[in-house]
Amino acid sequence: APLRNLRESLGPPGSPWQKELITLGPGESAWQVVLKKIQELSNSDHQDPFMVADLGMLASRHRAFCQALPRVSPFYAVKCNSSPWILRVLAALGTGFDCASQVELEQVLGLGVAPSRIIYANPCKPSSHLRFAAHHGVQLLTFDSEEELTKVAQHHPRARLVLRLWTQDSQSSFPLSAKFGARLEVCGHLLTFAKDLGLAVVGASFHVGSDCQTPQTYTQAIADCQRVFEMGRRAGHDMSLLDIGGGFPGAEGSGPKFEELARVINAALAQDFPEESGIEVIAEPGRFYVQSVCTAAVNIIAKKAVLEPGGGRKLKYYLSDGHYGSFRLFLREPVRKMPIVVKEFCSELPLFPCTLYGPTCDAFDRFYLEEVWLPELDVGDWLIFPSMGTYASSMTSSFNGFLPAAISYAMDPELRSLLETVP
Ligand code: PLP
Repeated sequence: APLRNLRESLGPPGSPWQKELITLGPGESAWQVVLKKIQELSNSDHQDPFMVADLGMLASRHRAFCQALPRVSPFYAVKCNSSPWILRVLAALGTGFDCASQVELEQVLGLGVAPSRIIYANPCKPSSHLRFAAHHGVQLLTFDSEEELTKVAQHHPRARLVLRLWTQDSQSSFPLSAKFGARLEVCGHLLTFAKDLGLAVVGASFHVGSDCQTPQTYTQAIADCQRVFEMGRRAGHDMSLLDIGGGFPGAEGSGPKFEELARVINAALAQDFPEESGIEVIAEPGRFYVQSVCTAAVNIIAKKAVLEPGGGRKLKYYLSDGHYGSFRLFLREPVRKMPIVVKEFCSELPLFPCTLYGPTCDAFDRFYLEEVWLPELDVGDWLIFPSMGTYASSMTSSFNGFLPAAISYAMDPELRSLLETVP
């Protein structure tokens, strides 16, 4: 319900707040757009936070993914960033989509994407959302329990089911296995249970946790899926789909880590699911696609200087966006993401311990648990946070009446004409 309310308050996809499209001039970059917007806003009396999404970068992430993992079809995880123009670009480029709820299904189907290009990959689904999927021909669904199978038999009996396995994901920045995934020991039973209900299981899936640090986790999970394929066949299912989930790192500088991961995955696929097997392989990448696509800009709306008993000086900055807006994941990030200060200093300035707060009245609304070292800044100054495409705009709220950062979408003329092919 809160998501629906938020959506309603913002208007349908395509509402003005989320619709500014910028066609880049020759040689112009999305970064220059950010700086230009800051300049414009500084000359007005608006301090609202904003984001710029570089849609050309999104297209190049897609190319990089397909090049590194040629056997794997990407089904982009909508939850990671569901901004309408991001989805449009991906629809035009021909990716599939991983949806987690009815609203996400509606969003993707509304772009004219065929239901066969969608996987409803939330193992625990509300019955009404299941009926919606059935009614609109979305057949691929994940599950990891008996109870979910019973619900699917009642509300979506023609589904093509994918069994989500548990993975050892403790080395990932955002583990998921405490919540989802069937242990290998119970898979045989689940597959027979599905068969007895007259349901078709067509494959296996897993998620190694978001921002995976250990390529071997994929190797183990792919080997486990191979065992589940054997169990499935023994239970009488036609096993034909392997879904290797998300977890691919997307931060700037993580290129070598991704290349290494892709090498390990390709080798594991060759070993356990050789090309001759004819098995279709898909993935659900989220952060790999969008993390570096968005840049956020926030304004200092208030400031306090605190004198310590020993004479030290500390600063508190209150920013126009925060924990309840685009920075919800900041407190959980394993590596602190520091801002770029948009200010010209004539000499090297001293740094002070600073606390960065968001704009709401809640004291938990802060960027980091600890102080960070920054120069003395003023009300009205801007900070830029690059790599803000992941779980930022999609987790935002309007708590305390602060609306989500408006998003501008920058693209070159070629991409713009490609987008005209999407409804
Ligand atoms: N698929 C599922 C089922 C997920 O839960 C998630 C993230 O939570 C993703 C895909 C995307 O993962 P990532 O952003 O790590 O690629």
